[in-house]
Amino acid sequence: MNSAAPLVFDITESTHRQNDDLRQKILANPGFGVNFTDHMVAIDWTAQQGWHDARVQPYGPLQIDPASSVLHYAQEIFEGLKAYRHADGSIWIFRPLENGLRMQRSAERLALPPLPEDLFLESIKALIRVDDMWVPSAPETSLYLRPFMIANERFLGVRAAQRAAYYVIASPAGAYFPQGVAPVNIWVSQEHSRAARGGTGAAKCGGNYSASLLPQQEASRHDCSQVLFLDSQEGKYLEELGGMNLFLVKRDGTLLTPSLTGSILEGVTRDSIITLAKDRGHEVVERKISLDEMLEGLRSGDISEAFACGTAAVITPIRMIKGESFTVGEPNAPAGELTMSLRQELTDIQYGRRADPHHWMMKVL
Ligand SMILES: *Cc1c(COP(=O)(O)O)cnc(C)c1O
Repeated sequence: MNSAAPLVFDITESTHRQNDDLRQKILANPGFGVNFTDHMVAIDWTAQQGWHDARVQPYGPLQIDPASSVLHYAQEIFEGLKAYRHADGSIWIFRPLENGLRMQRSAERLALPPLPEDLFLESIKALIRVDDMWVPSAPETSLYLRPFMIANERFLGVRAAQRAAYYVIASPAGAYFPQGVAPVNIWVSQEHSRAARGGTGAAKCGGNYSASLLPQQEASRHDCSQVLFLDSQEGKYLEELGGMNLFLVKRDGTLLTPSLTGSILEGVTRDSIITLAKDRGHEVVERKISLDEMLEGLRSGDISEAFACGTAAVITPIRMIKGESFTVGEPNAPAGELTMSLRQELTDIQYGRRADPHHWMMKVL
């Protein structure tokens, strides 16, 4: 890696920024991942030069050689984090260093070049600074930032690419639950796995997501909005959802979550919830949890709440859990009490409505 990585971004302002009226219209109803800001970040890497040519440029299509390695061997990683506008108009990001460090771990697993964490942080801030008017201010809205890295060497041989590129794009995000937080049903896939032991499950790479799409369709057919994956070896232990980690709450207030086995993605939200729950005096146990244990616990009432968590939805309460041979939970069950209060606490910190005792928020503007 080039130790003298560039920290100064060359800025080319877009000459065709979205006009104020259209932007306001988009921000009034942004949806998720469908609208993008006026600019993007790009940084190039070659084995010879290291990271170079850091820039902010107008948002637009990439030119990619058809032989580019990412298109054939999926050598790609990404991150996801949000910028939040506080009541005084200031803009903040949540634990961005964790995303930067995780991206370095993902890069290592996918044989991509690690991006220095200061360059990662600066890339996020540089984009927010030029596109700050895209950070919405309505309750529970945010600007979703999507850093990603691709191998783009023109070469069909199978080896780690000698050329890569890093980008950041940004997309205004509406409230995930505009009608109020609604519990979801989840489908336990007993046929397909998301990640295997020794595989790429702990890396945030697109390939993991492609493996989750077929079971996701299966889930939809069963009126479930997400898939819960089991371990690939025994098909017995809970791992995580396609893009969210899982928590169970026991009647006595203990939180249970699958331990990080190497095939589970280490969510920043997961880690934050563990910290907040411990601050409140809850016991939090990270260990292997079998599907049978969960189903029995839910049936007996020993497990009183279940939820999924990740940056996009923060915390999503789980209502029913279904599989080929079982259904547990009630169709109209409300969200769990602890589930909702942890969600409130975390979003209060993110939106600056509550003190931030762990110094998770970083001010950008
Ligand atoms: C990104 C992701 C999560 C959630 O991570 P956060 O850092 O909390 O957003 C969970 N599982 C998978 C597979 C992911 O890709």
